[in-house]
Amino acid sequence: PTRADITYFGAGPAALPTDVLETAAQALLDFNGTGLGIAEHSHRSELATNIINEAKADLVNYLDVPAADYDIIFMQAGGTGEFAASVYNLVGAWVARQHAAILQDPLDGATEEGVLASLRHRIKQDLKLDYIVTGGWSLKAYQEAVRLLGPEHVNLAADARTINDGKFGKIPDQSTWSLSKDAALVYYCDNETVDGVEFPEFPSVLAPREDGTGPIVVADMSSNILSRRVPVRNYSLLFFGAQKNLGCTGVTVALLKKSFLPPTTPQPSPALLRKLGLPIPPIMLQYETIAKNNSLYNTLSIFDVYIAGLVLKKLLKTYPDKVDGQQAVAEKKASIIYAALEAHPDVYRIVPDKSVRSRMNICFRVTKNGNVEDTEKAFLKEATGLGLTGLKGHRSVGGIRASNYNSIPLEGAEKLAGFIDAFAMA
Ligand code: PLP
Repeated sequence: PTRADITYFGAGPAALPTDVLETAAQALLDFNGTGLGIAEHSHRSELATNIINEAKADLVNYLDVPAADYDIIFMQAGGTGEFAASVYNLVGAWVARQHAAILQDPLDGATEEGVLASLRHRIKQDLKLDYIVTGGWSLKAYQEAVRLLGPEHVNLAADARTINDGKFGKIPDQSTWSLSKDAALVYYCDNETVDGVEFPEFPSVLAPREDGTGPIVVADMSSNILSRRVPVRNYSLLFFGAQKNLGCTGVTVALLKKSFLPPTTPQPSPALLRKLGLPIPPIMLQYETIAKNNSLYNTLSIFDVYIAGLVLKKLLKTYPDKVDGQQAVAEKKASIIYAALEAHPDVYRIVPDKSVRSRMNICFRVTKNGNVEDTEKAFLKEATGLGLTGLKGHRSVGGIRASNYNSIPLEGAEKLAGFIDAFAMA
């Protein structure tokens, strides 16, 4: 088959728009008539800086990021690296705040030993990170925090499996979340790619208070960024790998509140962290370092940022009302696919609860004939024959998963819905 024959529903890396790839293919050979390809130009060149700055500006524009208060950082850590980076950096910020407060104290702050003793005491008593676990990815982030800090500092504030027979598929009521007082962070995953669970909206229990203070919220938006409006101000940090809705694999974006960077919050020194028995961040995961160098502390793949920039330009061109325009399309596509599944309840079982169904990763089982495994194999084979590919569920949960990312056109969603209907009727 050729590209034109395929609608690719893979969960990530996802399909990219063909015109973006055509432009990028040419740029790999010769970027803008320079005689040198985009992946060959120095990351220290002016053109590389321009690509970074333009991608940042377009992201700010498309998502309405309050740019005076937020920094955009390109990294290579993947979502997985951000599980660790969020811990290191926000624990560092927590220590910096405690340190500053102790220095104000006439007793504890008077001597170096007093400061250290007081910091150690506060860490032991008060350092807590809260995790809302609603699927495989937030579980991995929680496990990484436990690995880095030890279980005594990590609070499983909610575990969706406890309300759904040990499986993911629901989001526990916010009134049951056991949030710590002044946690160093409260973490959740906005869209669980494997389990098809998406937060329908920002969890109100984490909203900032009237005076602007409130919990330090971190969210993983790897698989739904750019598909709906984000109340950026509610977050201290949000991050996403590019390889679903933004671009190709290889670049990860962190959107960080500037108050977590110097001059407001300088990270504690490695020497201090060592004395406190806290982990020292690898320099590549320290936001302060990367931000100070406009994402060029070390060799960044400018090609990946370039692709992301092309996708953003295309989105801005396609949708005059920016992310709201894409949001309407994403909702429409998802509702067409869910409606096709719901029309045949004897054939399909949608995995997550209706209230938390993802618009991006549509997870279902094909229960027709009772023999689910064989029927799903037949479903996948027939779908592939029609050019509907990448539909196999994640290996950890099985079933079918249609990833309805931004690059899936409306016609692609309609074609899948038509097949879902035809397979059920056959
Ligand atoms: N978070 C979410 C929601 C994801 O879907 C993924 C990957 O699919 C990750 C994190 C991990 O990203 P990476 O493979 O880039 O480390």
